[in-house]
Amino acid sequence: MAKIAFIGLGNMGGPMAANLIAAGHEVTGFDLAPASIDEARKAGAAIAGSAAEAVRTAEIVVSMLPAGKHVLGVWRDIAAAAPKGALFIDSSTIDVDSARAAHEIARAAGHKSVDAPVSGGTGGAKAATLTFMCGGADEAFAAARPVLEKMGKKIVHCGGPGAGQAAKICNNMILGATMAATAEAFVLAEKLGLSHQALYDVSSTSSGQSWSLTTYCPVPGPVPTSPANNGYKPGFAAALMLKDLLLSQQAASAAGAATPMGAVATQLYALFNAAGHAGDDFSGIVNFLRGQSKA
Ligand code: NAD
Repeated sequence: MAKIAFIGLGNMGGPMAANLIAAGHEVTGFDLAPASIDEARKAGAAIAGSAAEAVRTAEIVVSMLPAGKHVLGVWRDIAAAAPKGALFIDSSTIDVDSARAAHEIARAAGHKSVDAPVSGGTGGAKAATLTFMCGGADEAFAAARPVLEKMGKKIVHCGGPGAGQAAKICNNMILGATMAATAEAFVLAEKLGLSHQALYDVSSTSSGQSWSLTTYCPVPGPVPTSPANNGYKPGFAAALMLKDLLLSQQAASAAGAATPMGAVATQLYALFNAAGHAGDDFSGIVNFLRGQSKA
């Protein structure tokens, strides 16, 4: 079993660290928030006084932080403090350029590194059923896989440094666009006198089918486990959907890719967030679109 330092013990990092402890790893954690520290301590983590202290004897370092600037700040702080040859894994969702810069920080200090963002949300983090999308050298990925398997059920090597983040934002750009399109179809169906169930029965088995429809159906009824049946409690919060869409547009602009559907989805989610729904599940956009329709 390995000595693992875990930096960022929030809604995702906390339960992920708990799963590493449950698997028998020796986890030393660090976070800036006292509430996150308390939870991690209860789960059996040792708590360090700083990120640099947490990594001092670590064979593996995992970070799960809000954005690229946090990851780069922390990795710069800890790169020299960790034993040479350690494996650095960042599971935060961050921009591709920052992910590549983080790999460079690790490489320059003599460490292996993997960008390994996740999908599956807080439920997947607790149940250890996350999907990890990984970028990095073969050797680094091979070393990361057994650790990631304790926190997730699907581990995919997407390519070199930054490829995990690239896969994550491409996937979530599809998700944002398909959810908006699915929600629009339900609003149109209402106007045309077509029942939610009838549209679901047809589209779920024909060419309109998608995860947004069959797993996260934005109206109550057809999929009993979707957030629509639970007051649109997340699930996957609209604020995080907007974050990922903005990352996709930043990457598209930097890479020169035309992503007009992604751009419109980004605008829709920006309006939905600004209307006070940042904490709602992202499928709640159906109510926002209904509100924009003629009475
Ligand atoms: P969170 O805000 O609950 O947790 C982030 C933690 O990082 C906080 O506890 C914060 O105190 C800590 N932190 C910030 N700066 C720090 C620093 N310099 N040193 C140490 N700790 C620091 O966020 P979360 O929901 O756990 O998300 C973490 C990452 O996972 C984000 O990049 C997010 O986009 C991604 N993600 C989240 C979900 C989800 O459903 N919540 C799903 C997939 C991916």
